[in-house]
Amino acid sequence: MSEPIKKFQAEVDQAFATAIKSAKGGDPTWNALLATYSIMPLTDQQKEALLNSDMKIAGGAFPIELRWVLQAIVTKHASLASDNQDVQNILFGYNLDAEVMKYYGRIKPFGGMSDIFKNAKLTTKNYSEGIGGARKSAIRCKNCGAPRLEEMQYDKCMFCGSELFENNN
Ligand SMILES: [Zn+2]
Repeated sequence: MSEPIKKFQAEVDQAFATAIKSAKGGDPTWNALLATYSIMPLTDQQKEALLNSDMKIAGGAFPIELRWVLQAIVTKHASLASDNQDVQNILFGYNLDAEVMKYYGRIKPFGGMSDIFKNAKLTTKNYSEGIGGARKSAIRCKNCGAPRLEEMQYDKCMFCGSELFENNN
């Protein structure tokens, strides 16, 4: 690993560790880390909507906030290495969707599977309508599966920050 990539990785590791150690939905230490990247945390209203959504977390900062930090770290190190094409290639190849899902795997509540089976039993009616029927009723994130929160207008997943819609450009 080259020196600039080692520094990048160390900063990423620090962000992951701070996010995982954070109280559920963020705490002053996490917010202080956000502030060092000039990132505003989610609003209380947004946090409440996420806590009441299908995407349960057992603890830690919200995945989308970690994504914002990772994006800022990529941008920062890419500008530091503006004359190093190899480093730039590695940084721009960094898979934010995958990293955020890795993080989500760490903060998911235990017993998530049994909850899914419970829900499946309760919603047998929906299942009998087939997957196509279910898809029409909710837009889900391709990356994490979070349903779009209808009351809020946004193009990116509120949970993981991934693009909700295909880019038609
Ligand atoms: Zn998502």
